[in-house]
Amino acid sequence: MPALSEKAALVHQRRFMYNWQLLKDSGNDTFRSPLCQTSRRGAVTIGQGKPLPMSESRRIIHVDMDAFYASVEQLDNPDLAGKAVIVGGDPKRRGVVSAASYEARKFGVHSAMPTSQALRLCPEAIVLPVRMKRYVEVSRHIHAVFEKFTPQIEPISLDEAFLGVTGSLRLFGSAEEIGRTIKDQIKEQLHLVASVGIASNKFLAKLASDLDKPDGFVIIAEEDKQQILDPLPVGRIWGIGKVTEKALKSERIDTIEQLRKTPTEVLRRIFGEQTAHVLRLARGIDDRKVESWREARSISSEQTFATDITDKDILLGVLLGQVEDVAQRLRMNNLEAKTITLKLRYDDFRTVTRSRTFAGPTDVTAALWQQAREALLKWHKRSAGPLRLLGFGVSGLQKAGSGQRQLFAEPEREKQKRLDKAFDQIRGKFGRDALRRGK
Ligand SMILES: [Mg+2]
Repeated sequence: MPALSEKAALVHQRRFMYNWQLLKDSGNDTFRSPLCQTSRRGAVTIGQGKPLPMSESRRIIHVDMDAFYASVEQLDNPDLAGKAVIVGGDPKRRGVVSAASYEARKFGVHSAMPTSQALRLCPEAIVLPVRMKRYVEVSRHIHAVFEKFTPQIEPISLDEAFLGVTGSLRLFGSAEEIGRTIKDQIKEQLHLVASVGIASNKFLAKLASDLDKPDGFVIIAEEDKQQILDPLPVGRIWGIGKVTEKALKSERIDTIEQLRKTPTEVLRRIFGEQTAHVLRLARGIDDRKVESWREARSISSEQTFATDITDKDILLGVLLGQVEDVAQRLRMNNLEAKTITLKLRYDDFRTVTRSRTFAGPTDVTAALWQQAREALLKWHKRSAGPLRLLGFGVSGLQKAGSGQRQLFAEPEREKQKRLDKAFDQIRGKFGRDALRRGK
């Protein structure tokens, strides 16, 4: 399908809003069109009166901008085009790489690497500071493109999002056509390159967008998924990090095919209660919904460690960073939370959670941190053990200002609010690693 003209898109959108309402009312993201929908390239078929099972009939697009921060810098300063560009912290102050252009990546530079190390690998690289405000602005434009095609947008970060397009097929053509149009419009309107992955679920869609990066466009059809998954290393499965990969290697399990053919008892020793979940992913099955911000029931941040961690202070440091991220996202979205939850996964994959509920909802970092810290310390005292993953989340979300306040007396609360505002501004300007509070 050629790119829609603006006028045609408007006509589509009006009908689309109506269908969207139907879709929302039906309560899931499978939109069963009464019409048979077959694209010319045969990418998608929604059965006529014979719907496919939910797990196979959904269409999900994952859009991931290529080297986003670095590409925006190259866009804003044409002199940088084609050059090795690193966006990140000052090498003299132990800064890290936030993003690197593909020209720099050729030298082995990647994000999260110390900037000083990156410069040793690629001495001619130009290092630029993070301009978060500008990236947020560009990200909004990208979202405006998404919004023409679906209300179901789940942002993962500024440069990455899942789009549920099952309900959009009737209006805009196949998922392939929608994905292609989105990619083209981002290129035409913003002069930026996105990699696009399309599949029946989030796991496969994200995998697809990564398979042919940069400038990728990959569709994983249901009938091909096992063939595509099988030869990939086990590390491509969500949640399998370096530590687990090593454990699997010692059992001679390197590929996804080997993993899914391994007896369950063996896998259970490694994955514990997560075994069934991992096996489903290995078979390309993932039923998680695309959750847009507006309907989000929780906001969270979690980290899988390269080596298991028991040390209380290190865990507190990680947790503080997560609390700050989540609190900032709450405020960005004008929300407050009633409940905090810690997620703790032991080295044997046993996962426990610890929750606390406030008397009144809050978006104040200090309040969230106080509860999170106490919950972690209490857990550490009673049931500490090596952790492979730590996460922090908030739930019971509501619009800011709609609840009563009991946590801090008013003057104290106002002071905390001002502190948070200053904090958000600094992080907005210099990036998320620019500032951390003391524990
Ligand atoms: Mg990206």
